[in-house]
Amino acid sequence: MNFYTSKCVEDPDWVVRAALFHGHLGPWLIAGAMVGHDAIRKLETPGQWKINVTCWMPADKHRTPFTCILDGLQAGCGATMGKRNLWLRESHEVLADGWPVVHVVRLPESDRPAEGLSYTATCALHGWMENLKPERMEEASRELAREDVANLFRITSMREREFAWVGCASAGQTGTTTR
Ligand SMILES: [Zn+2]
Repeated sequence: MNFYTSKCVEDPDWVVRAALFHGHLGPWLIAGAMVGHDAIRKLETPGQWKINVTCWMPADKHRTPFTCILDGLQAGCGATMGKRNLWLRESHEVLADGWPVVHVVRLPESDRPAEGLSYTATCALHGWMENLKPERMEEASRELAREDVANLFRITSMREREFAWVGCASAGQTGTTTR
């Protein structure tokens, strides 16, 4: 369904913005927007040019509806394909625990080093996606939007190894990214 004609007055702004950008309201879009919002709030950054975002998905998931998460991330934290600070990547090593994994790195600045957060989908999110009935996609997306992001993703501070995976200077180091 076209979101332009199905918008509810109760929809929070961030849900409306994401759905208008993407063109419809879907659960992967919402999952991405939730991660994006949460990451820039916790990392105390406005996002946009100040972050790098890497979304890891198995190669067979590099298609919709899974990749709708990318538009959610773009709407949620302002890292975009056009700014070249959002990537979709695949790695058996990173994805060993499940899928997807999102790494959000706040770039180093003169007064603070780089810092990053890792979001790994939990069984709860997998369950949501598996039980989703296509005929109630928008309703389910709105329900998902009311969930706590910490139940849908395991959220941890990025460690050295994770900074290496995304090709960024790690916490404690200064300077620009290596990518
Ligand atoms: Zn979609």
